[in-house]
Amino acid sequence: MFERFEVIRNAEMRQYTTLKLGGPADYLAFPRSAEEIAALFAEAGSAGIPVTVVGRGSNLLVLDGGIRGLVIRVEKNMRQIRREGNCLIAEAGAMLGAVAAAAAEAGLTGMEFASGIPGTVGGGITMNAGAYGGELADVTLRVDGVMPDGTPVSLSREEMQFGYRTSAVKARNFIVTEVTFELQPGNPDAIRARMSELNAMRAEKQPLNVPSAGSTSNGRKAFLPPH
Ligand SMILES: Cc1cc2nc3c(=O)[nH]c(=O)nc-3n(C[C@H](O)[C@H](O)[C@H](O)COP(=O)(O)OP(=O)(O)OC[C@H]3O[C@@H](n4cnc5c(N)ncnc54)[C@H](O)[C@@H]3O)c2cc1C
Repeated sequence: MFERFEVIRNAEMRQYTTLKLGGPADYLAFPRSAEEIAALFAEAGSAGIPVTVVGRGSNLLVLDGGIRGLVIRVEKNMRQIRREGNCLIAEAGAMLGAVAAAAAEAGLTGMEFASGIPGTVGGGITMNAGAYGGELADVTLRVDGVMPDGTPVSLSREEMQFGYRTSAVKARNFIVTEVTFELQPGNPDAIRARMSELNAMRAEKQPLNVPSAGSTSNGRKAFLPPH
């Protein structure tokens, strides 16, 4: 099964979560495109096996029993970032830090707050990740994705219904594949200085050298169940 794709069988999820916890996933796939994500869903659907979508695994608690079925990890093979005017268009597997760095390089301000959040664009949009007074909702112009049945979706900021650490991704049950961030022209040195300042503040407060999933609360949904 899944022979056309980059897939690991019985993948130990502890290797794919920042908490370094979690038993095996039956199949772990690393898609290269929205088309591959749709094709993986189609093949899993034909075989009747459940699908779970993850990013970097920095907000996931996977149980020792692991995850049955197919886990689609939108990360290492979908990391392109391109510029169009004042916008950066990032594939869902790009790290938020890489988008912030690309923005600084391009002299675009607005993403500095996200530079130290250790997740992907897809995970960040799902969670409306934020820090130091900013959140992805502030800079998101459009979110592109695919439904489990392969139908493309394209949502505006308003349609994304961003809230505190939440968005329409879960309710509408789609997979984020690409996000357009709308930024403002800024001074590259000032942008880099702000990023360094925020990262120094973060390093002071967070144990960056031990397994972690960031801050945690009882009411926070940290896992997308199979659908
Ligand atoms: C040390 C540390 C510091 C942190 N600091 C912050 C912080 O300052 N602010 C903050 O908001 N968070 C913080 N976090 C939490 C975490 O980094 C964010 O929630 C991040 O956005 C999660 O991204 P991820 O790629 O790791 O997603 P994952 O943990 O892999 O997944 C999170 C959720 O998103 C879903 N998902 C992932 N990718 C997609 C996709 N492409 N399409 C649809 N659904 C998807 C998953 O199913 C899951 O429900 C921190 C975590 C750590 C470990």
